[in-house]
Amino acid sequence: MKVRVSVDEDLCTACALCYDELPEVYEDRGDGIAKVRDDIGGDGAIVEGELAERVLEITEECPSGALITEVIEE
Ligand code: SF4
Repeated sequence: MKVRVSVDEDLCTACALCYDELPEVYEDRGDGIAKVRDDIGGDGAIVEGELAERVLEITEECPSGALITEVIEE
């Protein structure tokens, strides 16, 4: 599976869940708001395999719906 990942920084409430649980993909942009890590491609980066599965799980858990994950290949 491949997914395209992004974060709606306006919706994020800085709860820290995504970058605590999945620091391979998300990070704190500096003020607690989440962003996609620059070193994997930043906003719109493609994530695949087991990491993509975990991204989908964390997307469901985000309390504010700020994680935007698009499945691009099953
Ligand atoms: S889980 Fe959602 S609300 Fe929490 S830091 Fe990540 S994007 Fe923001």
